Amino acid sequence: MHILVVEDERRLANLIRRALEEEGHVVDVAHDGVDGLDMAEGTTYDLLVLDLMLPRLDGIEVCKRLRSDSRDVRILMLTARDAIEDRVLGLEAGADDYLIKPFSFSELLARIRALSRRQVQAQVEEELCVGSLVLDLARHEARRDNRSIELTAKEFQLLEFLMRNAGNVLTRTQILDHVWGYNYDSFSNNVDIYVHYLRNKIDKDFSEPMIRTVRGVGYSLKA
Ligand code: CA
Repeated sequence: MHILVVEDERRLANLIRRALEEEGHVVDVAHDGVDGLDMAEGTTYDLLVLDLMLPRLDGIEVCKRLRSDSRDVRILMLTARDAIEDRVLGLEAGADDYLIKPFSFSELLARIRALSRRQVQAQVEEELCVGSLVLDLARHEARRDNRSIELTAKEFQLLEFLMRNAGNVLTRTQILDHVWGYNYDSFSNNVDIYVHYLRNKIDKDFSEPMIRTVRGVGYSLKA
């Protein structure tokens, strides 16, 4: 994971950084709330380890501002005091968990592992819906009008890409790059073949076709 540690006690910040790096994480450090907020807004971090008492801008305020930006980064708040009010404030401001100082590194790492699992779960539970079409990302399953549709792995990836961009025209190159990867032979007619397969599955038995061919450009899914 890419983790930002916002902690003004430099020695502690370095210890946390080292412990996280040893676990294989990529770690950035900020020493006050303003720098921390700037960095968190400028880069997509998976997780923030955020001290509550910080110079310039406290952890609660950093947390609130990130949440009002609807950033879905996980936030583990560090608090020096065992005061219930601090914890409540932190959680109300949008922190996912908190840890009371002094803490052991094994406890810190355990909390971070738990938070990263929670994030993976949240991603896995996602569903995409466009009109009567539903793509269940956890079960790798598509449904249209509640009828289950079986898809191969490539068809699934193609449909997911079309659904995430519903209403927009996608060029063959964009589809090829996204579904088959940048190094794939760009003269390949795979895109047309797979769109044909997909049409047979999601459009053929239904009165309203959803996949539209845009002549000379590519394809689009009706939003
Ligand atoms: Ca502090």
